[in-house]
Amino acid sequence: MVYGYYYKTINKGPILLDDTCPSCGSKGTLRMDVICKVSHWMYIPCWPSDKQPILECSVCQGKYKTSALPHLHPKDHELLKRTSYRFYHFAGLILLLLFAGFFTYLVISGEKEKIEKIHKEIETLDEGLVINYKLPDKQKTSMYVDSVRGDSVWVRENKMATTGQVMRINTSENYSDEPTLYLKEELHKLANEERIINIYITAAYVRKQVEQENENENIQD
Ligand SMILES: [Zn+2]
Repeated sequence: MVYGYYYKTINKGPILLDDTCPSCGSKGTLRMDVICKVSHWMYIPCWPSDKQPILECSVCQGKYKTSALPHLHPKDHELLKRTSYRFYHFAGLILLLLFAGFFTYLVISGEKEKIEKIHKEIETLDEGLVINYKLPDKQKTSMYVDSVRGDSVWVRENKMATTGQVMRINTSENYSDEPTLYLKEELHKLANEERIINIYITAAYVRKQVEQENENENIQD
């Protein structure tokens, strides 16, 4: 049984010395307790409910509602009122809340880390990089970085947009011939709005890096 419920005594009340068990007839063997229903998941108590006073006989082990001995009223209700649920019967619920909290924390910190990374990448943007981003209408598109001078980033925008994979529309003929100017500030704003999906390296970018390294080596020689 993965989930279900059981009953648990949460308060042991007084022994009723003057009363007789309605089943076996023993005198002074009844005790007035409070029980409750505990809902469990994999036997981890999750949620208690339905607390009620009950009579238990120590001889025949019988259990009876207090209404079996009407003169016990209102004592039974007083006992019920005094008895609160046990905190450990909420264990499953508390665990679930902790787990949900921890999971939310992981998701948020993961998102934060991703945005931080994109901010850093914007600062080191260079020719040949491609920025995949979301349009205000949730469609995705990309822009190819043509050149970077200080805070000015010249890009060629993709004329197509898609709700599917951006890779599919990332072909050279889709990119505009006219460059568009973006300020790094605008790109940082896009990043904060969680609209930049990723910034990735193209073959052209790698080629340029290799060329630059070779040049540097030549200078050193
Ligand atoms: Zn009995």
